[in-house]
Amino acid sequence: MARFIGVLFLLIALLFWAGAQQVNYDGYQVWRLTLEKPAQMEEIQSLVRDIWMVRGRTVDVCLSPEEQALLRSAGYAGEVLIKDVGALIRQQQTEFVPQDGSLFTRYLTLDEIYAAMRQLADQNPRLVQMFEVGKSIEGRPIYALRLTRDPRRARVYRDRPQVVINAMQHAREWITPPVVLYFAYRLVSEYETDVRVREYLDRMEIYVVPVVNPDGYVFTHTTNRLWRKNRRYNGRNLWNQPIYGVDLNRNWAYGWGGPGSSGNPSSETYRGTAPFSEPETYHLSRWLLSLPLLRAHVDVHSYSQMILYPWGNTTDLPPFNAVFERVGLAQQAAILSVHQQYYTVGPIATTIYLASGGMTDWVFAVRGALSFTYELRDTGQYGFLLPPEQILPNCEEVYPAFLELLRWALRRDWSE
Ligand SMILES: [Zn+2]
Repeated sequence: MARFIGVLFLLIALLFWAGAQQVNYDGYQVWRLTLEKPAQMEEIQSLVRDIWMVRGRTVDVCLSPEEQALLRSAGYAGEVLIKDVGALIRQQQTEFVPQDGSLFTRYLTLDEIYAAMRQLADQNPRLVQMFEVGKSIEGRPIYALRLTRDPRRARVYRDRPQVVINAMQHAREWITPPVVLYFAYRLVSEYETDVRVREYLDRMEIYVVPVVNPDGYVFTHTTNRLWRKNRRYNGRNLWNQPIYGVDLNRNWAYGWGGPGSSGNPSSETYRGTAPFSEPETYHLSRWLLSLPLLRAHVDVHSYSQMILYPWGNTTDLPPFNAVFERVGLAQQAAILSVHQQYYTVGPIATTIYLASGGMTDWVFAVRGALSFTYELRDTGQYGFLLPPEQILPNCEEVYPAFLELLRWALRRDWSE
């Protein structure tokens, strides 16, 4: 019996040890494949667990050594984008980090992002208010900043159009929270000096939600750098292993369950058991429905450098396609002018891929707001593992695109 208990203890200790370990990506590679015929996409989906990006005929995939061998034997030869994913993750974890007090030279933890939001609100009570939109499935708060003149005089100004910018539905897209946080900081710092910014904050309400998926974000710091979904427990698979996660950007109610989403709980694009089954999307949607004058919205993702608009669930063009295109091109020009980075403009379904149950479709369909999905840097050299030196440049180039959207949101007539 003593011996049995000893073995049991050893097993439990081993389990804990395994649970505390970071997922190891040594030997993993990211390849870019070029498809010759559409049917190959299905084959790749059956052979590869983690597809990073699809863009026309090119597909970026993150491959374990076994998957690399499988693809090779199936006749695929990809261009290697990242030679050793594990080494790159480690390098970025241990790299020298300048402690110059800047918020945008390294990737912050969730607590640091929330502290930075709190500080901005505390130091600028006449322009900024912080509040909780709701809680995640593991009970973490999802915080938002409300930027408008004298926010404390009304819970919401019914005569000020609202613009919402949110990031980090997908946990591994680390560049997205800093870009949104920078926007808030810069608006506040330029209120006194930039007449446009002053007008926007005086006449509009601007909301930013830097982290929609706080559980996933924490998990990418503690356990798996390349985690994408939230942390919903989905039961066990055939090998009795637990399955976690719903893709929040397939869980929105408009077009839910359509093409470009999966009913398989193990899939990276698992849509969940029902529309808004997840607390993160549920709370965010209730809050968006409560805004009286929602005019414009951006859901920020990475990577690929794109400015996308509805629809995601069909290749049909959306109503007001010409307006979307015009505003999209204006944002593209604004981005290009800063660091000469080119962002492609177009509808989600035809520019990247079909994706049903996405946030942008829902916001446009249900609220009629001018809704965009941004895909930030880069175009694939580092993908989700964008080096910290690129955080600030990415923040700087997207800032004027957000201003451009505010300018359009303030206009009554989008046709001129
Ligand atoms: Zn994403």
